[in-house]
Amino acid sequence: SVPASIASALSSGARRGLLMKGGAVIEVAARTTAVVFDKTGTLTAGRPRITEIVPFGGTEKAVLSLAAAIETGSSHPLALAILERAKADGVTALPSTGAKALAGRGAEAFVGGETVAVGSPRYADERGVLEAAAREAIARLEADGKTVVAVFRPGKLVGVIALRDEPREDAADAVRQLKALGISSTMLTGDNARTAAAISGGLGMSYRAELMPEDKVAAIREMTAAERVMMVGDGINDAPALATASVGVAMGSGTDVALETAQAAILRNRVTDVAALIRLARAAMGNIR
Ligand code: ADP
Ligand code: MG
Repeated sequence: SVPASIASALSSGARRGLLMKGGAVIEVAARTTAVVFDKTGTLTAGRPRITEIVPFGGTEKAVLSLAAAIETGSSHPLALAILERAKADGVTALPSTGAKALAGRGAEAFVGGETVAVGSPRYADERGVLEAAAREAIARLEADGKTVVAVFRPGKLVGVIALRDEPREDAADAVRQLKALGISSTMLTGDNARTAAAISGGLGMSYRAELMPEDKVAAIREMTAAERVMMVGDGINDAPALATASVGVAMGSGTDVALETAQAAILRNRVTDVAALIRLARAAMGNIR
């Protein structure tokens, strides 16, 4: 039978929006030595907004109408921000077909008889469309903690779009609380290293950047050799990482896939609830001994 202190921790946690799927989760959570956070939607609210549109040759409007054409139908937070801005500015998307996501890289579609794309600077570079002036503009925006995406046609950069996704209000406090418990915090992101450094530095935590979904799993697997790792995430693409960690925790605002895969959930979307969950688990285990 379940020890009384475990049963009471499960129910008092549930009342505070700290959901754990069974007593075994408490045992593992209590021994957490490192917490790994997904960036977008977990440490940040996941609602990026466009701050700058930098055209290369044409107009801001041309960049936006092409980007919107590609992102039509996409539910990625960056796509939603682009579509929202186009709508707010009264910019109509160019007609497009075959729009599809390129996981961890961007999205593409056929527009005006050619394949056009919106994607990470790294992906744009792989496609050979970044020249010195573009690289400089991108580096400057990224050093400011902004996420930059490039809009390009075959062999030609059309423009770059900078977006900012603000950290959740309590994210820095959460890192401090975990530190007080002797637990390290690391941010994992598909975003570039400059943006990651600017955001994680402000929160007092370390980071691993430019990770493809499978790299996030590998990073966690690596860490679990020496640490007991709690992974906190919200997205469909976080599910494999949540499953690989010693214990996976889903944000309540997250996708169903994340909530199903994780062994625990923090329903009120407060990052500090990660520390609260660990304190609760430690107290429950302390009462057994
Ligand atoms: P994260 O780890 O921040 O959730 P993703 O793995 O979803 O990021 O994406 C990594 C990078 O790929 C983004 O920072 C962006 O540059 C690019 N990207 C992915 N999807 C899109 C999209 N739909 N539109 C534009 N860029 C995208
Ligand atoms: Mg996310």
